[in-house]
Amino acid sequence: MYPDLLARLIEDFKRLPGVGEKTAERMAFAVLELDEDQVNNFSKDLQSAKKNITNCVHCNSISDQEECNICRNKTRNSDVLCVVESSKDVFLFEKTGKFEGRYFVLNGLISPIDGIGPDELPLKKMLDFIKKNKVKEVIIAVKGTIEGETTALYIKKILENCNVCISRIASGIPVGAEMEYVDSLTLESALLNRKEI
Ligand code: ZN
Repeated sequence: MYPDLLARLIEDFKRLPGVGEKTAERMAFAVLELDEDQVNNFSKDLQSAKKNITNCVHCNSISDQEECNICRNKTRNSDVLCVVESSKDVFLFEKTGKFEGRYFVLNGLISPIDGIGPDELPLKKMLDFIKKNKVKEVIIAVKGTIEGETTALYIKKILENCNVCISRIASGIPVGAEMEYVDSLTLESALLNRKEI
């Protein structure tokens, strides 16, 4: 039996994705090996990330300021908007280095089975973004699951009268694949080979 405090630390690490019992134990023991300053910084970083990272007022991506780095960057091309499911996807696209437009994060997909209808997504905010920035092309870059397809079709429908070109990245991304497991090159080619819908 581990001392209670160590057992608690192990349980904390197990809350993180991909961390099972063994890894959590290794991490907890590693913490005991760190010096006091390192542990203090670690716990401060955890708290301040949680407290200060919020959603960008324009695009919903995570940011530690009111406007995220991308929205603040005046060299980004506001003509093209890439609509993604989560902030994680923004950083995946950024890693390709091939996209110069802006992003809009839905923070979810339409999923009737989970009780998530269109009203639960920030689609009104997305529409305002598109109008305000005079977006000319909307790239719907969500995964090819039923939820992704439903969301893409719904967005296409609400943009019908907005005079924007709507495309969907699909090729290269296996149906149902989680975006985070798609490598940079695959994502880049999916972006280049996007199809108008
Ligand atoms: Zn932003």
